[in-house]
Amino acid sequence: MDMEHLKCLIIGGGPAGYTAAIYASRSGLSPVLYEGIQPGGQLTTTTDIENYPGFENGISGQVLMDTMKAQAIRLGADVRGGTVSAADLSSRPFRVTVDGDHEIAAETLIIATGATAKYLGLPSEEAFKGMGVSACATCDGFFYRKKTVAVVGGGDTACEEATYLSTICSKVYMIVRRDVLRASTAMQERVMNTPNIEILWNCNTQEVLGDGSGVTGVRLLRKDGEVFDVAIDGFFLAIGHHPNSEMFSRWVNVNEEGYIITEDKTSRTNVDGVFAAGDVQDPLYRQAITAAASGCRAALDAERFLISQKLI
Ligand code: NDP
Repeated sequence: MDMEHLKCLIIGGGPAGYTAAIYASRSGLSPVLYEGIQPGGQLTTTTDIENYPGFENGISGQVLMDTMKAQAIRLGADVRGGTVSAADLSSRPFRVTVDGDHEIAAETLIIATGATAKYLGLPSEEAFKGMGVSACATCDGFFYRKKTVAVVGGGDTACEEATYLSTICSKVYMIVRRDVLRASTAMQERVMNTPNIEILWNCNTQEVLGDGSGVTGVRLLRKDGEVFDVAIDGFFLAIGHHPNSEMFSRWVNVNEEGYIITEDKTSRTNVDGVFAAGDVQDPLYRQAITAAASGCRAALDAERFLISQKLI
């Protein structure tokens, strides 16, 4: 097996990873970035991004990611297709295997593997992804101005997204599988006090309905056995995210939901030389701009670490 020795290895091709690559390249760390199974990350599954500063008229998620990647490459980053299949962070240099057969020894590691929104797993939901089915109200809500949408879930995210959508849409249904919300009291009160939010209690989604133009409705099964259809234009999932930290959680401290714990305002983990950036360490904000900012921090932290170890 060939073994490559790197000063800085970045895992993850989303805004955090690409930004880390931009900064690490300019600092002379000769970073290598592996993009993983979804180059560009979650942003490539959205349509236009209107809240990323610098683009007066918005920009498509795919174009934003392609541009960040091109910028990182122009500055010298080695951006590669490939997925990390194993990691050993027990000692430095850290050992990482890519696609089962390429061995890397890395003095610093930036984990920017992101988070994956949970979906219900229905074939009809998959069929309308990007055509009315979304897991990000902040990204896509704007496209449902004066329309009717549904949000699945009863946690803080679902309440927050329903409240946000209620300012844009004429009507918001919340599809809640139990007869209570999991969300905090304050969030529940906000939902209850919003006249255009209606909660459909004890309901599970059987099928997302639609045609060539996109989503047109949802078929629900209530606990009492009744099956009924509700007309909607957009179907938003808010049933939680999985941070993609499993491969590293043997060494790196994670919280009870699996998010990597970073020290104070830095990107440092409990393992010296291992840094985390983006959604894999952020249960709260999960925005492209906050991910990019944390990627910047991770590259600066990696550079400082390498200097402290006299490795650059
Ligand atoms: P949660 O795990 O808290 O809630 C998930 C919700 O989705 C629950 O209501 C759950 O139902 C429901 N759900 C899960 N799976 C399914 C399914 N298959 N079908 C239907 N419904 C399903 O996730 P959140 O993303 O809401 O929150 C994650 C964390 O982030 C929490 O700790 C939350 O407090 C925090 N957060 C805080 C915010 C704030 O303070 N402003 C904002 C957003 C998040 P059930 O209750 O029946 O299990």
